[in-house]
Amino acid sequence: MARARLCSVCDTPLQLTHLHELTGVENAWHVQLLQFPVLACPRGHDRREAYADFNVDWSEYLGYRAPIWSSRKGLLRRRHVCPRCGMQLREPALGQLDLEAQGRGDFRFSVVVRGPMRRCQSCATSYLAASDSAEVFEALADALARGRVKRY
Ligand SMILES: [Zn+2]
Ligand SMILES: [Zn+2]
Repeated sequence: MARARLCSVCDTPLQLTHLHELTGVENAWHVQLLQFPVLACPRGHDRREAYADFNVDWSEYLGYRAPIWSSRKGLLRRRHVCPRCGMQLREPALGQLDLEAQGRGDFRFSVVVRGPMRRCQSCATSYLAASDSAEVFEALADALARGRVKRY
């Protein structure tokens, strides 16, 4: 068993805790991280990611594996189409996406993204434009910064 990570202030071993809610903002994007796992000092000093590179793992999961990005097709008129059913997506409107993010093992939590997104009328799924991903990830980083969650 690896040695427990210690608090940088009081040397108490950090304990796995789930934060009820972290919120972040970037431009039009609002995000919530719900039941986010962190290693925390019981006295409230340090908060660190659940394991080394947890933040890398779950953001890659969201970036590559979650079916949330719409693609653009067409040579002359570029248009956004649904990755599932190929229907043309509607113009962006304020919407909400409820997602599950996960890292290695059992580490998972819920992510709520609110902002301008395109809805497929055929299969009732909402998508973000791939070009919005940088701002969405800035909002997620803002949530970690506001929650004072440090690197492992
Ligand atoms: Zn402490
Ligand atoms: Zn669809």
